[in-house]
Amino acid sequence: MRRREFVKTAGLASLALPFASLADRRPNILFIMADDHASQAVGCYGGRVNRTPAIDRIAREGIRFDSCFCTNGICAPSRAVILTGKHSHLNGVRDNAVAFDGSQTTFPKLLRSAGYETALLGKWHLKSDATGFDHWTILPGQGEYYNPDLIEMGRTSRRPGYVTDILTDLAADFLRSGRDASKPFLLMLHHKAPHRNWQPAERHLALFDNAIFPEPSTLRDDYATRSQAAAEQEMTIRDDMTLESDLKLGPPPERLDAAQRAAWERAYGPKREAFRKAGLSGDDLLRWKYRRYLQDYLGCVAAVDESVGRLLDVLDETGLAEDTLVVYTSDQGFFLGEHGWFDKRFMYEESLRMPLVMRFPGRVRPGSVNTDIVSNLDFAPTFLDAAGRGKPAPMQGRSFLPLLLGRTVAGWPESFYYHYYEYPAVHMAKRHFGVRTKRYKLIRFYHDIDAWELYDLEADPLETRNVYGDPAYVDVQCDLEAELRRLQAFYRDSEELARRFVRADTGK
Ligand code: CA
Repeated sequence: MRRREFVKTAGLASLALPFASLADRRPNILFIMADDHASQAVGCYGGRVNRTPAIDRIAREGIRFDSCFCTNGICAPSRAVILTGKHSHLNGVRDNAVAFDGSQTTFPKLLRSAGYETALLGKWHLKSDATGFDHWTILPGQGEYYNPDLIEMGRTSRRPGYVTDILTDLAADFLRSGRDASKPFLLMLHHKAPHRNWQPAERHLALFDNAIFPEPSTLRDDYATRSQAAAEQEMTIRDDMTLESDLKLGPPPERLDAAQRAAWERAYGPKREAFRKAGLSGDDLLRWKYRRYLQDYLGCVAAVDESVGRLLDVLDETGLAEDTLVVYTSDQGFFLGEHGWFDKRFMYEESLRMPLVMRFPGRVRPGSVNTDIVSNLDFAPTFLDAAGRGKPAPMQGRSFLPLLLGRTVAGWPESFYYHYYEYPAVHMAKRHFGVRTKRYKLIRFYHDIDAWELYDLEADPLETRNVYGDPAYVDVQCDLEAELRRLQAFYRDSEELARRFVRADTGK
């Protein structure tokens, strides 16, 4: 009996097969990553503000990870961690300003040398050229939503249309006819959406016109029990979101053609007029901004979900579905008004949490949910493991393939290490590191602040009550401080190293 027939016949019983048999199969990997897609805006994570039927389909036919975290919650650093399986202080991309050293070992390079055909489409954002890919077509920098420039293997050209659709077309072409059918493939599709400044496709500009969004209960957070870091950021919907660009009261982007411009005007013209007439201020203005923010953010998400749906259909139609591990994630989470914010960066839950759903027919039990702590640091070892390859020693992550396959792993790590560096910079989120366990989170802010925060996520899931220094938590605090030191030693990081980076970055 051939392996594929055996797997088909065996069905769920195949979950018990030894790992070596998975390596024989050498799955294709379709890795779809959005930029800034909060799990609060994913249906299968209980999102109450929108629907994501295609992403939910992956979870329904596969597995949803409920505790996947990002080690350094901004774009370029998360991407570098995913590629290298190493923390930011070792892969070099601590913030968005640094260029990625593409000579490093990455999992696409290792898969390529193991016989995979590798392709990258979409946002790269690492300043240097993409390495490790047989094919790459990337957006320059952050890229544009409408009529974007694309760099194909070094050559730049402008494509008419909407970025999410263009990238989906390229991915579909690769799956249908653009690849070497004799090899397994790794296709990384990195969407620009739903990154700021949230420009939906023409067909989605009015999608949420009549929607009422429940406001997060922390929208008016006064940061009363926190360190100064929360109060001194610059990422509030109330004060830092711009009316002209973010909320589209200004003119349309210059890149739009006449038809796109007309659609833009039909959608935003009446909103602009209504805003002028209303003369909003204070809390009315905040409510208006929050609603307008979500309308455009979720409009962008709608096209991403359609993209996922189209590619799942292409996998079905090409007969690739059964041999393909499908992954949907985001480079980190995002605030959708929680604590009054948009953006990410902070180690608080909404930003820390990455949506992660995966499907591998015949191997991953449909409708599985896993709550073990995994992170973007683990992606590279996991994909290598799925391809039957070990991880090289410098990779710090750990393969969660066994969890994917429904096994429980004795001694699986119960804590997670975070370190954010980009400060002073846009949004002014101060430098911090910390540890999160299943129940608690300890955060250490440093540089121009000397502060700690401790949250009991079971008693206080919205993280509104910092209990650092509270006598009731003295044992917890000591344990977490020890765990933080242990993790820093394990990952070869330290506050002293962090202070050296401060000096290198700021000259002080
Ligand atoms: Ca991002």
